[in-house]
Amino acid sequence: MAESDELMLQAPYPELDDLLEMMGEAGRRLSDIEATEGAAGNVSVCLRWPVELRTRFPLLDDFELPQAVPELAGATFLVSGSGRRLREIIDEPVASIAGIVVDEGGQTGKLYTSYQRRFERVTSEFNSHLAVHYDQILASNTNFHAVIHAQPLHVTYLSHIRRYQDEAYLNTHLLRWQPETIINLPEGMGFVPFRIPSSPELMEGTLDALRHHRIVIWAKHGMMARSDVSVKRAADRVEYTETAAKYEYLNLSVGEIGEGLSPDEIRAICKTFNVQQNIF
Ligand SMILES: [Zn+2]
Repeated sequence: MAESDELMLQAPYPELDDLLEMMGEAGRRLSDIEATEGAAGNVSVCLRWPVELRTRFPLLDDFELPQAVPELAGATFLVSGSGRRLREIIDEPVASIAGIVVDEGGQTGKLYTSYQRRFERVTSEFNSHLAVHYDQILASNTNFHAVIHAQPLHVTYLSHIRRYQDEAYLNTHLLRWQPETIINLPEGMGFVPFRIPSSPELMEGTLDALRHHRIVIWAKHGMMARSDVSVKRAADRVEYTETAAKYEYLNLSVGEIGEGLSPDEIRAICKTFNVQQNIF
């Protein structure tokens, strides 16, 4: 079962320009927290209400989907382009983003782009994005789903240390620094051992981890976050994870003198705020 922790979006749905702006704001924030150096990171959203793409994306091409998604016929994806910088989406969204509308049958789609487009292909991680969108939407029937891949410095650094590659160790250590962390990530952090970027193995591990978590850490690479509500909420989840990793890193660097919230304290927080969790 997917964690359908959030309510579906209700009409009136966000307009295309609003969605592009939110993708831009998410990209800028991820850049501010050093989670997307150079052209690292990528973002996509899936919308299941009708969207008029032609006004912003007049160029039309056929597009072969990385996997068949028959139940998503008619759905629209907004996806960052390969090699584009997430921090620049906000300046000129159509230069960095493409729209894809899934055809009947779900094997192919129509790729919508702008004359200002500055990329050849959509992100090379689109296979993982699509697989996650599809899996989550089939499980929860949500009408909106956002996925972000980012490479926050401290999260990625800790993922190189053997003991943080153990999911229980990772979670009990990172979720202990602020009361908000367990509230925002009650299922904790999923973990996928190192897999080659864009590989089917990374895609499968990610899919599995996100069935049980809102974020997943990719060893020695970065992380992925999702949301049923907004792309900015997915970006917030990257930020909560990176903040937790920063505390942990800080604690390591001073000889681990910080106490952290005790398991009792975390259980009391969860009781007060009605958070279901089974990490502590
Ligand atoms: Zn990456």
